[in-house]
Amino acid sequence: MTSADTHPSGVWYRTTAELAVQAYLLIRQQQALTFEAFKAYVPEARDPGAGRYIAITFTEAPPEIAPGRVLPQFTAWMVSRDGAQPENCDVETDRGQLSALAPHWPIQELKGQRVLLIGAGSIGGAAATALSGYGVGTLDIVDPDRLRYHNIPRHICSSNAVGRYKVDALAKHIGLKWAETDVSGFRIDAIADADLLRPLIDMASVVVCTVDGVEPRRVISYLCKRAGRPLVLACVLADGRYGEILRLRPFPEVGCLECQRRALDASGQMDLEPTLDRGYGEGTRHNPMTAVGTDLHLMGSLAAKTAVATILNELGHMDQILEDDNAVVALRPEAGLAEPFDSARAMSIRWYPSAASYPDCLACRPA
Ligand SMILES: [Zn+2]
Repeated sequence: MTSADTHPSGVWYRTTAELAVQAYLLIRQQQALTFEAFKAYVPEARDPGAGRYIAITFTEAPPEIAPGRVLPQFTAWMVSRDGAQPENCDVETDRGQLSALAPHWPIQELKGQRVLLIGAGSIGGAAATALSGYGVGTLDIVDPDRLRYHNIPRHICSSNAVGRYKVDALAKHIGLKWAETDVSGFRIDAIADADLLRPLIDMASVVVCTVDGVEPRRVISYLCKRAGRPLVLACVLADGRYGEILRLRPFPEVGCLECQRRALDASGQMDLEPTLDRGYGEGTRHNPMTAVGTDLHLMGSLAAKTAVATILNELGHMDQILEDDNAVVALRPEAGLAEPFDSARAMSIRWYPSAASYPDCLACRPA
C-alpha cells in the first residue's frame, strides 16, 4: 500500500466468512456498511476520527457462492465515520520471477553462467541491465569511477545515486528489478589493477568490455586472449556516428584486438578506433558529450545480446548463431567513409568477419 496508494498506511484485520459475503453483496450494490455495522464484524476496528483509513480484511476460508466460485480471501475497505466502503482487491501472488519465461527462453542454462562486465558507464550500465534481463545468473562488474551529475543524462542510474561508485549504483539498480541476478562490483582500474582482473576473467563464461580508450581495450583483449575467454567489445566511434561490436572468440586462429586493427589497415579499410581517445574524459576531467545516451544504451543491449548468443551457441542453441563476429551499427552515419563504416543509412548493421592472428603478434603467440 505504501508504494501503490496515495494513503500512506492501512491496517489489516482477520475476520469471519460473513464479512466476505457482506463485501461481495455491497460491492455489487455499490453500498457501504455503517461504521457501527463494520465494527460489529471487526470489533478491533480503529476509530477513524475525522479522517479515514484503508483496512484490508482477510478471511481464512471464504464461502463458495456458486459451484467452483469461491469469494476472495481479501477485501479492501475505505473506513470513515460515514461508513466502510468495500472495494475489490487484487492480490499479487507471483513475485514476477524471470523463470516464468521458460520454456521460451533458456533461463535455467543462463542462470548457471557468469559474465564479467568491464566498464559501468553509459554503455556498460545498459549492458548490465540487459544481461540481467536475459537471465545471466552471475554478473561481475568492474569500474573504478564514481557516478557524477554530468553522467546522469546518459547513464541508466538516476541522480539519487550521484556520488556512489558506479559499480555499487548499478548493483543496487539491478537488485531492485532482477533479484535473480547475483551482482558483484569491483572498484578496480582495468590497466592499473590488471592482475586483479585475471581471476575474474578466469571465472567468466564471456567478458564484455565497454570501457573507452584504446589502451584499456588492448589490455583487456590481451588478458582474454591469454585466458582463452571470448571477449565482446562495445563502443561508439567518431563522436557517436557509429556503434561497434567486436566479438573475439578464443580460437587460436582468431586475432586479438591489435590484430583486428592491423587487418583493417592492411586491407585498406578504415579504423576509427583512435577517435575513442578523443572527446572522452578520464577521472575528474569532463569533456563535452558526443553520443546521445539512448544510442549508447542500444550498443550496450547489443553487446549483451552478443555475449548471451555466444554462450547459448556454445551450449548448442542453433537459433543464437550470429551473422558474423563483428558489426558496425550506423547511428548518425557520415557520407564518404570507407568500409566497414560506409553505411549511409541510420540503423544499418554491417557485419564482417574477424581477422586472423598475425604470426608476429605477441598477444596471439601461444604461451
Ligand atoms: Zn594478436
